[in-house]
Amino acid sequence: MNALPQPIRTPEPSFRVSPYSFYGDDRWQMARGLVAHRDATFAVNWAFEMPDGSRFDEDRWRHLREVTKLFLWSLHGDPPPGRQSVALRTLATHGHRLRTILRWMARNGLDRWRQLDRRMIERLFADLSRRPGKRGSGLSASTGHAYVGMLRAFHAQRSKLPDAPSAAAPPLADLCRWHDERQWPYTPDTIAVPLLSAALRLIGAPADAIIAMRDEAQVRYDQAIGEGFGSAAGKGRVRKYLRRSPPVEMRSGAPEVLTTCPIETFNAWVARIYDACFVTIAYLVGARASEILGLESGCLEWATGEHGERYAYVVGAIRKGAPGNDGLPHRWIAPDPVIRAIEVLERLSAPWRESDGRPLLWLQQAAPGSALRSSRLTTQPFSVNAVNERLNLRFAPLISLPEHEGKRWRLASHQGRKTFARFVGRRDRTGLAALAKHLGHVTRAMTDRSYVGTDFELTELVDGHAAAETRAALEELLVAPQLAGKAGRALAARSPFRGRTRSGDLDAYISELLAETDMRLGVCDWGYCLYRRETSACLGSEREPNPVLRTQGTCSTCANFVVSEKHRAVWEARLARNRALLGRLDLDPESRALAEERVAESSRIVAALDHDDDR
Ligand code: SF4
Repeated sequence: MNALPQPIRTPEPSFRVSPYSFYGDDRWQMARGLVAHRDATFAVNWAFEMPDGSRFDEDRWRHLREVTKLFLWSLHGDPPPGRQSVALRTLATHGHRLRTILRWMARNGLDRWRQLDRRMIERLFADLSRRPGKRGSGLSASTGHAYVGMLRAFHAQRSKLPDAPSAAAPPLADLCRWHDERQWPYTPDTIAVPLLSAALRLIGAPADAIIAMRDEAQVRYDQAIGEGFGSAAGKGRVRKYLRRSPPVEMRSGAPEVLTTCPIETFNAWVARIYDACFVTIAYLVGARASEILGLESGCLEWATGEHGERYAYVVGAIRKGAPGNDGLPHRWIAPDPVIRAIEVLERLSAPWRESDGRPLLWLQQAAPGSALRSSRLTTQPFSVNAVNERLNLRFAPLISLPEHEGKRWRLASHQGRKTFARFVGRRDRTGLAALAKHLGHVTRAMTDRSYVGTDFELTELVDGHAAAETRAALEELLVAPQLAGKAGRALAARSPFRGRTRSGDLDAYISELLAETDMRLGVCDWGYCLYRRETSACLGSEREPNPVLRTQGTCSTCANFVVSEKHRAVWEARLARNRALLGRLDLDPESRALAEERVAESSRIVAALDHDDDR
């Protein structure tokens, strides 16, 4: 017979909840000094402000405070049956969610947790889903699920606590709609390409110039101090030196000299080089932001491949889900720009590593610090939040990042990983030429699964993107009233959904098709490739088309090729361009023959889309 759950005894105020806090404290600091995170992330404040201006540590909130503290601690000390003990640092995240709910309860006149019944839970979620957030209004799916999970745990603890929600939270789908299923979307090509191009440019000559200036400015400052002058005089010499330094091209095509506020502007330049290094590594390696910010000096490791080729790896640790603070060792294959970014970081952070003693590559002086060692301010690692802020508020304006669909695109440090996975997962590289150049060998290695190692989630992300693209394209192709290209005609003739609207049947049909054939579609500007090696006109490999021979002309003759209405503009433009060429009298015979061939190919495709016979 199972023993009945025993009520949890409230710990003494002097009971330690972490190495830094006691149960009776108004602030529980659950963890401290984790690379890439601010200490505040791991703090639970029990004296926060309530909607009426009072503080939660006041006597009137005693009941709610005592129960909430006990529940939160129980998640670690005595979790609900079947659940694992919540790690100390994760308790803080639950604490932030509880604070949100407590404020909502106060606004709605609830002063006992048991008043949170099914109806009130529905109201709570309706309000949460209307809240303005960083990425637009409403809840993301993952945040919504996290709230549901926590409230269920609270309800499950009801026999051990003096007060608890009187109903279990229903599934999120029954409570509200969430605004975005992909919590961290990839960066669209129109943003990713200029972003990465700017970062690659900045870690080149500008980085070298800035590091040389930083080192020389430091020498001049130290000399002044060594001669017995004060800090003000030292900075005066630095200003003079910076004003006379050669221009640096922080903005492409606009070399700049440090005339006004030279030290402040120079500090910002140094910060932008750090940002460029972050972008380069995040978009070309696929590591999480916290893993990048945890990299240490000497993290590059070289290896020799099967055919004698040299590969560099970035060696670090995966912390997500790992026990302890150090994480599990991991290495990511590093294309050339990442090797360069690491080298730049080694030089940038060298003086700070020396004074700090930690081997971290991402170190800076605490605010309002400087790129020069001219004060006793401490050094600290970068945090993920700070990186996000800098990318949006400083880096994007510096490189004049274009808008996406008429709106400013909000960068997030997690997007690099998603964009990387999407790139590796898709067969087509045409829209991402800048990435393709740098990711060639990474893509091969990823495809071979030889280096993914323990980063299984990255493998899933890659496969997920490939499958999602294939599914979306198949949806379009199976209902399209008209398709061109050899495979297009065959598909259109077979599809039972041709000309119909999308339905559940279509979903099921696609799932069956994918399960049976392991089909992967190649997507490019001018059509789709239903890739099969034996019929590949571009002589592709076992797994994918040959990127060199994959051209519009080759595809137009290939049995694997499909064109839908959405590609019409590309073929019409090609037709118009080549017809215009044929109108020129000075065209040599070879070019004329080529233009005629292209007119014929393009006309066939456009005619097929117009419903004519394209044979
Ligand atoms: S030539 Fe054929 S196999 Fe190669 S990309 Fe084009 S459609 Fe695909």
